[in-house]
Amino acid sequence: MIVTRFAPSPTGRLHLGHAASAIAAHDRARRAGGRFVLRIEDIDGTRSRAEHVATILDDLAWLGLTWDGPVVFQSQRLATYAAALDRLKARGLVYRCYCTRAEIAASASAPHGAVPVYPGTCRGLDPATRGHDPHSWRIDMAAAVAAAGPLIWQDSTAGRVVADPLAQGDVVLARKDAAASYHLAVTVDDAAQGVTDIVRGLDLFAATDVHRLLQALLDLPVPAYHHHPLLTDDQGRRLAKRHGAPALADLRAAGGDGRVLADALRTAGQTTGFGPSGFSAAKA
Ligand code: GLU
Repeated sequence: MIVTRFAPSPTGRLHLGHAASAIAAHDRARRAGGRFVLRIEDIDGTRSRAEHVATILDDLAWLGLTWDGPVVFQSQRLATYAAALDRLKARGLVYRCYCTRAEIAASASAPHGAVPVYPGTCRGLDPATRGHDPHSWRIDMAAAVAAAGPLIWQDSTAGRVVADPLAQGDVVLARKDAAASYHLAVTVDDAAQGVTDIVRGLDLFAATDVHRLLQALLDLPVPAYHHHPLLTDDQGRRLAKRHGAPALADLRAAGGDGRVLADALRTAGQTTGFGPSGFSAAKA
């Protein structure tokens, strides 16, 4: 049975791009008589807000979307992520990193705005040196890739993808302030919720290489991926709050009909794949 999911982070309000993504995931499951599950990605305790959770659930209901089973909250699953991390620790595939953001920014070269690839400063550090000082846990990517062997995943648009997680360097799996990073939590949870088909934006395409690696290391099933283009405005700019795009909650409060909006996004998605004219159609 097909199982899809929507997995928003409650760090802000949902916008049209989120709506298009949620609808795509929802409809893919419903068309196939499958299940659509909802997960709130709230491991970031400093940026997640309970009021955003309530708004997200109201927005989805307003769009006419229904989900199956209880809503899963990542903040309640920290022990599960710790157990997954323990398996990687036991294999020597992760290491403690004591670097601050500023240190990493100073030592790494990255194109402006891009997340820098970690230069590996703490890899190979004797654990006795700094012990339990505040630290994150990073994957030793070269060792992990060697342990996992070649990794393939399938995307409905891109086809067969040969994963290249090395390109992303030693990513963080557990943060100083959180038991898991996005990469670890999302991979563990998609498996735990039985997700067979992951529908999400193209901005997470490269992250899938890391998730595929973690699936191999943690003996988790490999879902099919459907990375969709991001919703853009008529100038091709990504729709996000910073461009002044309205939040779904604003449209709802203004008396808009969420089901009509959802149908407009469906039509736009079919003809344009969420492209520029898709947004124009959604506005009309
Ligand atoms: N929580 C992530 C976000 O809101 C999405 C995770 C995913 O779809 O894999 O950007």
